[in-house]
Amino acid sequence: MSVIINDTCITCDACLQQCPVNAIVDDSSNPTGKKQYYVQPDKCVECVGIYDDPQCAAICPSIGCITWDMPFTAEFDEHFRNEEMYKLGVSKDGTLKSPLYKEKSYRKDISVSERGIGKLVQEEPEELEEVG
Ligand code: SF4
Ligand code: SF4
Repeated sequence: MSVIINDTCITCDACLQQCPVNAIVDDSSNPTGKKQYYVQPDKCVECVGIYDDPQCAAICPSIGCITWDMPFTAEFDEHFRNEEMYKLGVSKDGTLKSPLYKEKSYRKDISVSERGIGKLVQEEPEELEEVG
């Protein structure tokens, strides 16, 4: 995928409006059954060629809620076949839309070592100084 949403999601709906490829579904449509928004890994393109960075993470008010995941490439096919975490779509011919059959764009400037569930897309904001 790309990016993944965790359980700190407050279901504010901001990311869903922002995604240029409609890769995000709301909590009522989350195929894993979790009460949080969900990024469809077989649709997310990490905003490559459209924006400079993942727009969902840029707008999300819950810092750390949207983190990197592995690139949606054949190398990580097994990772995305974990049915507890992902529900991949099925093509008309019955083939699972896994990266083995259909890779997606990903940010090549983000190394694999910088990726993974929990790896921040956004920097943590600096602590605000207390005034007075
Ligand atoms: S990274 Fe971009 S394409 Fe992927 S879910 Fe977020 S907004 Fe959509
Ligand atoms: S913007 Fe963040 S908190 Fe809001 S619905 Fe999306 S993932 Fe959840």
